Amino acid sequence: MSGDDHTSGDFIRDIIDEDLRLGKVDSVVTRFPPEPNGYLHVGHAKSVCLNFGIAAQYGGRCNLRMDDTDPAGESMEYVESIIGDVKWLGFDWGDRLYFASDYFEALYDFAVELIKRGEAYVCDLDAEQIREYRGTFTEPGRESPWRNRSVEENLDLFARMRWGEFPDGSRVLRAKIDMASPYIVMRDPVIYRIKREPHYRRGGDWVIYPMYDFAHCLSDALEGVTHSICTLEFENNRPLYDWFVERLIKKGTRPRQIEFARLNLSYTVLSKRVLIELVRRNIVNGWDDPRMPTVAGMRRRGFTPESIRSFCAVIGVAKNDNLVDVSVLEHCVRDDLNERAPRAMAVLRPLKVVIENYPEGKVEELKAPNHPGKPEMGTRRIPFSKELYVERDDFMEDPPGKFHRLAPGREVRLRNAYVIRCERAVKDEDTGEIVELRCTYDPETLENPPSDGRKIKGVIHWVSTDHAVAADVRLYDRLFDIPEPLGEGGDFADHLNPESLIRLFPCFLERSLNEAKPGVGYQFERLGYFCLDSKDSKVGMPVFNRIVPLRDSWAKIALKGSQ
Ligand code: ATP
Ligand code: MG
Repeated sequence: MSGDDHTSGDFIRDIIDEDLRLGKVDSVVTRFPPEPNGYLHVGHAKSVCLNFGIAAQYGGRCNLRMDDTDPAGESMEYVESIIGDVKWLGFDWGDRLYFASDYFEALYDFAVELIKRGEAYVCDLDAEQIREYRGTFTEPGRESPWRNRSVEENLDLFARMRWGEFPDGSRVLRAKIDMASPYIVMRDPVIYRIKREPHYRRGGDWVIYPMYDFAHCLSDALEGVTHSICTLEFENNRPLYDWFVERLIKKGTRPRQIEFARLNLSYTVLSKRVLIELVRRNIVNGWDDPRMPTVAGMRRRGFTPESIRSFCAVIGVAKNDNLVDVSVLEHCVRDDLNERAPRAMAVLRPLKVVIENYPEGKVEELKAPNHPGKPEMGTRRIPFSKELYVERDDFMEDPPGKFHRLAPGREVRLRNAYVIRCERAVKDEDTGEIVELRCTYDPETLENPPSDGRKIKGVIHWVSTDHAVAADVRLYDRLFDIPEPLGEGGDFADHLNPESLIRLFPCFLERSLNEAKPGVGYQFERLGYFCLDSKDSKVGMPVFNRIVPLRDSWAKIALKGSQ
């Protein structure tokens, strides 16, 4: 699969069209450049779809590049998760999996070239002093006393930085640009620092590491990237991006940076820092907790790659930051599953029903369609017998008139089966709790309405007790209970939704769900979409995750609140 879910125009594609028309580029090369210091989230998915989608649309290429130039927090576990997630999203980088850490030597050479041009110098100010000298938005910076070292001295000192002669933080290499520039990033930015921290791929090879602004643009250039698409925070860094490539990269092969608005999603957080904290503080059960907005979490929960791609297409790309309502994502998931998910019956809060006039020991294998709108999805057999489970909520002892489900004396249709009538409820003598319903069935009503013309308004789902599969079902919901959990200040953990995970056990599922596979969503009739959990399910005790409810229950709450 490619990114052909995206074909509509946007300002980035307009820029690319223009570059192609003017002959500035003759093919389009993009890249998705994650730093392997966390798992990918749905914001990254937006960038993945955009970069791979553009490459596919223009017959170009998109590289997958690990932007691993800062050893802190990077690891092979993250690299592997990123590879798996991008693949799962449906994109293919061919043989172009790259690592910025493979460019350390080339980047070093670029830095040496800058020094030789008299455009970089080794500075002995410490971090605090550099900040002080930098100035502010309203005041220009001051030049470092080390700014006018000779090229020879700079070459010598930089080489000795590399070979570990100086302690961490004692010296840096800076670009020599303009301490009075209105762009603070242009005020002699640091491009190399000394940091003795082993790199997960390069081990102790290096004790100096390039800074992001220097490494990123040159890595793009080394890979022949034509359009370097990034999020808006980097808009201010563009003059610096251009400054490096104009000096170090041949005209005609210089990548161009284009910024777009990052995805912000309500009721969730898309910041790696916060996601890491959620994991570390055990607020969630790991990166792939089904409540996490990570690709791993969404996959485990049962979201399909198609629905995530279609979400990215629906939200599009814009130049201004905004907040997308998480219901848009849920809607895309629901839409996709409504088409593809086979139907099944499951009872989550069971109440036993005994059909008094159904023969003891008899079992009928009733036929049920797998999808009401898609006969091509076939049918399955579901066992019907004297004892069933129905949903506790589908019975009321003393219901209002318009309750069309079970109540003493009332009739209801069992989905794919007969019409039954509730004769009475059996209660626990001590607690008064209803433990069982005694019902009768009308044998004439399988696939037929009652012959005497009585109207049966309600349809409920059920499973046969003897044939049911017991399961642990987890109802997942939004992790936070306010739209912008980071917007309030304080600890985001104060805004957790206490009902983000509800565990129900035992639930009873129809027999066919014994065959369920992780990642395949089912519509449990009247309840929502569910899938088998890939991690916690055990032989004999499946765990099912709710992917999304059938309807947006939060919209109803919002509506109630506003009435
Ligand atoms: P960090 O703060 O660690 O840099 P990051 O989320 O930017 O976090 P990266 O690994 O640098 O992480 O991101 C890889 C790519 O994904 C970048 O090109 C970045 O612009 C893009 N990206 C990150 N977050 C979002 C988001 N919320 N929406 C769209 N794109 C995003
Ligand atoms: Mg980043």
